[in-house]
Amino acid sequence: MAPPPTKEQLAQLDADDPLNWTRGEFEIPDAKACGAKVDGKAIYFCGNSLGLLSKAARQHVLEELDTWSTSGHFNHKYDRPWKYVDRPLTPHLAKLVGAKESEVAHTATLTGNIHNLFTTFYKPTAKRWKIVIEKGAFPSDWYAIYSHPNLHSDVLSPEQIKDSVIALAPRDGEETLRTEDIVEVLEKNGDEIAIVWLPLVQYYTGQLFDAAALSKKSHDIGALFGLDMAHGVGNVDVKLDAWNVDFAVWCTYKYLNSGPGAVGGYFIRDGLEDNNRRLAGWWGNDEKTRFQMSPEFQPTPGAKGYQHSNTNVLGSIPLLATLEIIDKAGWDNLRAKAICLTGTLETLLRASKYYTDKAPGPNDTKAAFRILTPDEPWRGTQLSLEIHPARAGVMPRVFDRMLEAGLVGDERQPHVIRLSPVVLYNTFTEVGRAVEILNDALAAEDEELAKGN
Ligand SMILES: *Cc1c(COP(=O)(O)O)cnc(C)c1O
Repeated sequence: MAPPPTKEQLAQLDADDPLNWTRGEFEIPDAKACGAKVDGKAIYFCGNSLGLLSKAARQHVLEELDTWSTSGHFNHKYDRPWKYVDRPLTPHLAKLVGAKESEVAHTATLTGNIHNLFTTFYKPTAKRWKIVIEKGAFPSDWYAIYSHPNLHSDVLSPEQIKDSVIALAPRDGEETLRTEDIVEVLEKNGDEIAIVWLPLVQYYTGQLFDAAALSKKSHDIGALFGLDMAHGVGNVDVKLDAWNVDFAVWCTYKYLNSGPGAVGGYFIRDGLEDNNRRLAGWWGNDEKTRFQMSPEFQPTPGAKGYQHSNTNVLGSIPLLATLEIIDKAGWDNLRAKAICLTGTLETLLRASKYYTDKAPGPNDTKAAFRILTPDEPWRGTQLSLEIHPARAGVMPRVFDRMLEAGLVGDERQPHVIRLSPVVLYNTFTEVGRAVEILNDALAAEDEELAKGN
């Protein structure tokens, strides 16, 4: 590991960075508004949870409000007609996820899209009905997946429904799943598995899964392979077609900065058989005949044929702003810089006197942290820090001190703080300052612990 860079070296990295202009495209919140006790801008390392507003997104939304205000629904003079609000998004997004334009749609929300796709593509039989998911999955995925076998009590016995989810867990003493262990589960339960549903990047640990290998194995055993890309899209390289993924969902308010609760997206591989189980809606009807209001449903070919409702304009148009910035900067350039930003964060963290590579012990008395996220290349932007001693009260205290000093990460119970230096708006200088703040927060925690708290 290289020696940690100095403050001056970090400032030089920012000055020399050909992508340093992208930060100026974003509105960086004031630290105090985020809960800090210091002046100045927040060090916002929380884009994994909610991405920041870009100036172009504000502009695009104002344009839509102006159009609404001046022309009501007669907005067809405008160069972004609401009827086709997703048209300018589709080519950018298809490129970003490594898919054909016919394979992606932007509509609804992530969890709603899981339900939509599972209703269509989860077609259990008494012989093949199980769904594989990780035990540590994001709760919404877990709830959603668990609800589907219940809808099939006509073909599944109560015992089968109870037995329908295979939950993957890391080995004892490990934090992340090994591909070889997932493969073993797939081989063992091969002919009973209908769908393998995994995250591309795990929200808690930041682990990037080997989608290509797991997709291949899923297909070898006759199952479908689906991905939740909430933490993947806009964060890591995505190659849905090359990986031969069957279907995928994502949200756009994390790394794509579309705003709270904004439009979700999904992917359906061209040619994936739906067995006539599509849930139809007027926005899935071919746009050529959609407004003829005929009772006969004529689906749009491809993924867009599975949409239900007209697209949320105010929740879609901010997304266009991020996609345009990504296009201008070049995805590969951004990804290369992102690896460097997170790598710099890791180098500085490992040089901290509070860094440990050990699991927390029951008798720990000193403040410390461990990085749960795997090494490059099996991660994206986020590093997940497990705060020690791993007992109630410690992590939230450390988190609050960081926040007071202007570092906005996010806390995940029981013991994790996630830090994501986002390539579009964070800097190397901020990475350096973030680690100083963490070190100070842990020093203060040691004093607290010494008092017996
Ligand atoms: C953020 C996130 C969600 C959120 O779901 P919504 O339907 O957008 O509220 C779901 N799953 C995962 C894995 C996430 O990271």
